[in-house]
Amino acid sequence: MKNYSYLFPGGRTKALTFSYDDGVIADRRLIEIFRENGLKGTFNLNGASLCADKVSCWARYPQTRVRHVDAAEVPEIYEGMEVAGHGLQHLCMEDLNDTEITDEVHRDRTKLEAVTGYPVKGYAYAFGRYNARVVERLRGMGVAYARTVVPTHGFGLPAEFLTWHPTVHHDDEQILPLTDRFLGLPDDSGFSLFYIWGHSYEFEAKNNWEHMEDVCRRLGNRDEIWYAANIEVYDYVQSLKGLRTSADGNLIQNLSCTDVWLLKTETKEKICVPAGKLVRL
Ligand SMILES: [Zn+2]
Repeated sequence: MKNYSYLFPGGRTKALTFSYDDGVIADRRLIEIFRENGLKGTFNLNGASLCADKVSCWARYPQTRVRHVDAAEVPEIYEGMEVAGHGLQHLCMEDLNDTEITDEVHRDRTKLEAVTGYPVKGYAYAFGRYNARVVERLRGMGVAYARTVVPTHGFGLPAEFLTWHPTVHHDDEQILPLTDRFLGLPDDSGFSLFYIWGHSYEFEAKNNWEHMEDVCRRLGNRDEIWYAANIEVYDYVQSLKGLRTSADGNLIQNLSCTDVWLLKTETKEKICVPAGKLVRL
């Protein structure tokens, strides 16, 4: 029996997260925009590309050349954000055998952990490409979540974190209507997560930084939204799923090291169940 529904930290019903790929120097400007607006995000890096001498251009934007972030710059540039994996060499994992998949993920992770100094548990599929075999391989390696490039245009949480579909790419024509819809959701509409992804070099290529500044300004610095990196959303959901409930549903035990928030079904009261504590509803 469950006498409650879930809330985000602080009793909020809305959360916002971002995910940006490839670890290029334009991330620095994007993170400045995030910081100005109190936002947090996840940056998915390729361990073999962490070198200031490496300059890339992308098939879609042949005129744009952007250098990669150097390993030595990672702690400073991504301070307060999450660094996650994106494949050591940005290979399409569908094309790899099991040993090569392990190599691509594990060596990337090892490199990123050496640079950041913390366990790197998140991942974003290079080219957004994956299949069931790749997903199971990642699960076996202890990867917590992996982001795809499939837009949901919705605000639900993923049923399967290893195929975590974002809400929308920042250049999708739906982004502003979705932003308005998200901001307009009433407080009693339940758990809503807005998840935006992209590449910061796209702002350089399209010269449309003001578009992202506008989106971030609209969504940022609001008390009713929880701003979190991908791994924080994942960890919080794990804490919720780990709650232990009595048979009558009135005793809730939080065995995790994170305070969690619930909405009491009957009274609509917001309740915090502190880390490691037992609460009677
Ligand atoms: Zn990529």
